Amino acid sequence: MAKKVFIKTYGCQMNVYDSQRMADAMEAEGYELTDMAEGADLVVLNTCHIREKATEKTYSELGRLKPLAEAKAQSGSKMVIGVAGCVAQAEGEEIVRRQPLVDLVVGPQAYHRLPQLARRASEHNAAGLVETEFPAEDKFDHIPLAKRALGPTAFLTVQEGCDKFCAFCVVPYTRGAELSRPAEKLLREARELVARGVVEITLLGQNVNAYHGMGPDGREWSLARLLHALAEIDGLKRLRFTTSHPNDMSEDLIAAHGELEILMPYLHLPVQAGSDRILKAMNRKHSAAEYLSLIERIRKARPDLALSGDFIVGFPGEDDADFEQTMALVREVGYAQAYSFKYSARPGTPAAGNDQVPEEVKAARLAALQDLLNEQQARFNSRCVGQTMPILLEKPGREPGQLVGRSPYLQPVHLNAAAERVGEIVEVRIEQAMRNSLSGVEA
Ligand code: SF4
Repeated sequence: MAKKVFIKTYGCQMNVYDSQRMADAMEAEGYELTDMAEGADLVVLNTCHIREKATEKTYSELGRLKPLAEAKAQSGSKMVIGVAGCVAQAEGEEIVRRQPLVDLVVGPQAYHRLPQLARRASEHNAAGLVETEFPAEDKFDHIPLAKRALGPTAFLTVQEGCDKFCAFCVVPYTRGAELSRPAEKLLREARELVARGVVEITLLGQNVNAYHGMGPDGREWSLARLLHALAEIDGLKRLRFTTSHPNDMSEDLIAAHGELEILMPYLHLPVQAGSDRILKAMNRKHSAAEYLSLIERIRKARPDLALSGDFIVGFPGEDDADFEQTMALVREVGYAQAYSFKYSARPGTPAAGNDQVPEEVKAARLAALQDLLNEQQARFNSRCVGQTMPILLEKPGREPGQLVGRSPYLQPVHLNAAAERVGEIVEVRIEQAMRNSLSGVEA
């Protein structure tokens, strides 16, 4: 009987992609993916280190695995427990010291070594294996794409790491320096995904628009060059990319938004704050005015573009006037959607030691910002009512006979349609707007 692997994913889309590839690696090793930890032979927690709470969540999850591991041992076999992702990279040996239940710790750059680590832990009872190197070889070269069925959408990591060193961020320390995968490998992987039924691919990178991979022509390719090449793949209907930094929105990438119909009119472009004083303290290397003029140029290239952003409130030193500038920037841009958080000091990041804004002030600012962002999202969604849009049918909905699809603006859209139509792009007349989603009927 095939061994079972359970992978729990926290955090960003890159972790989702990495978990899929770890599942691919274990499938090649003869394991079967399961959606529950109970009875699994291998359990991997693929962790996120972006906020304080995320790390503590990992340890409480490990505590919950203890009785399951004990039950497995009583039935005469072993549950191997592994911690992967950014907490693994940041904490390494400390995890095994703090929680001896853990058999292996593997960093984001060493996933291709998971099969051998799991083998050593399960066959030779080796415990406390820690692998957090940044190996030279491309981890994905060693992992064949899985045979299991894929849905109509897929992620594809094209770039990893970050050289920006924003003062609040752990990514440069947990994911390392920027690394772009060769374009030829990405084109091959994309073709394989399309051959297996994928019609929409989202390109991923911590700093995706800093992509500069080697092209098959021996030249360095920009993200725009890669998008144009991917757009030629037969059967691929939609392209997206995330997450971008304003300073890497090159002219050819802005132009690509106007040139490529396959590139969805939705751009996630974090700015974090609206005050130049705070942007400087965050080491974002651009001003609010530069961000706004960039938005203007992108909207000229693609007038129907929907924007999404990331915001941090309560960054050390932020006063009421700074916060008001964030609110003013949000009003000026008008976001279709955005993510917002209270500043959370991350050990080892430059801003962690600075004078902290009181918790209650952070909470009040976050509430005000989220009210404004929710208002903008609701306005964007209600403007879609009465429009007919191409919707990619992605998965079954909550109600019988209902499917959930995605609009070009990444909005979830609920409609009645037969289950076997998943993967089709259908014209839908939008009839109702909810806060986070739409509903409609086939036109
Ligand atoms: S650009 Fe993004 S990933 Fe890079 S350091 Fe800044 S916030 Fe972190």
